Amino acid sequence: MSELNLHQELKKYFGFDEFKGLQEEVIKSIIGKNDTFVIMPTGGGKSLCYQLPALIQEGTAIVVSPLIALMKNQVDAIEALSDQNGVAHVLNSSLNKTQVKQVKSDIANGVTKLLYVAPESLTKEEYVDFLKQQTISFLAIDEAHCISEWGHDFRPEYRNLRKIIGRIGDNIPIIGLTATATPKVQEDIIKNLGMENPNTFKASFNRPNLYYEIRPKTANVDADIIKFVKQNDGKSGIIYCLSRKRVEQLSQTLQVNGVNAIPYHAGLDSKTRAKHQDMFLMEDADVVVATIAFGMGIDKPDVRFVIHNDIPKSIESYYQETGRAGRDGGEGHCLAFYSYKDVEKLEKFMSGKPVAEQEIGHALLQEIVAFAESSISRRKFILHYFGEEFDNETGDGGDMDDNVRYPKKQKEAKDDVVL
Ligand code: ADP
Ligand code: MG
Repeated sequence: MSELNLHQELKKYFGFDEFKGLQEEVIKSIIGKNDTFVIMPTGGGKSLCYQLPALIQEGTAIVVSPLIALMKNQVDAIEALSDQNGVAHVLNSSLNKTQVKQVKSDIANGVTKLLYVAPESLTKEEYVDFLKQQTISFLAIDEAHCISEWGHDFRPEYRNLRKIIGRIGDNIPIIGLTATATPKVQEDIIKNLGMENPNTFKASFNRPNLYYEIRPKTANVDADIIKFVKQNDGKSGIIYCLSRKRVEQLSQTLQVNGVNAIPYHAGLDSKTRAKHQDMFLMEDADVVVATIAFGMGIDKPDVRFVIHNDIPKSIESYYQETGRAGRDGGEGHCLAFYSYKDVEKLEKFMSGKPVAEQEIGHALLQEIVAFAESSISRRKFILHYFGEEFDNETGDGGDMDDNVRYPKKQKEAKDDVVL
């Protein structure tokens, strides 16, 4: 397919004039029936990389995705773009018999171009038996890091995928997509999905508009947070805390101090959670104080700051969570409070887990400790962790962190690491 045509299809289906980043190359690789591995930060436009080739090719593309809510959003969006019903479907346990029948007939009739499934639905004999008789254009595994214990969101069901793919068909191209850039996770994905010399496309993970700052956490952390939030009055922000108790306590403290803050954690009932999320999105609340339960799939472009009341459990988590700031390219201040006591707390949390998991957790923690205590540019450190070289003199956002702007006078010997 010529380039001109791909642009036309992009315009026709999505209304966009240009591809974003590496999308066009990725799409060509998929159309060429190659196993393809896509590593792009959140918001990079990964969905379109498989949606467009699915729409313009014969057969049905199977898309594996971990979250039912996200799958439903995508299906609704595709259906809204198309003038025919059934172009995209979800296949999962929430469907009744009549609905399953409809989905199957749409696939068999060549109407359905995108079939979203949760990994656990793919273990159903009935579905596998059906799918292996259909024309499958390719199989896309979104959020592919879920397959790796080294990722921030390991899901054991993802480990069964290779076996199931083999049962659906022998020569189906596999597309893996993730926003996780660590080399360990990438190796795990390629190995576990059995991808064969995949064409690999990796976008830069640099977020030049984000300012990274880490401060020591003292007994005055409440006052520090209140002061920061007051200085950013009226702006949208997220404050992450480790525990639900701290979320409740800090949101009350902020409210008492005149900040329009609301709590969010998995201990709240689903109605309250949905309400608080909407209040934040609709700007009825400026600040959401939350556990990490908040954020997956939330796309508020103008979050102006992300505060970490506690240091996250890995650099990966830190990057994902701070990444929710400044999605529109505007200001995004990322402020984390660090105390080694919190690290010990995180270690303690892990003590009940299987030894292998503890070892991984410990190694990840050591890296975030090194990051927090380092006097090297935060951006350089993060990007190095993701396998990218960054030059603060020439790179975008080179002066956008505390260590570069305000170099520590007395460098400690252990910081003399050359990256
Ligand atoms: P990811 O899965 O990588 O986090 P998404 O697929 O959710 O990213 O896309 C992020 C946003 O980028 C979406 O709002 C999407 O509509 C938009 N987008 C994707 N491709 C393009 C493009 N070629 N031109 C303009 N916007 C795009
Ligand atoms: Mg995505």
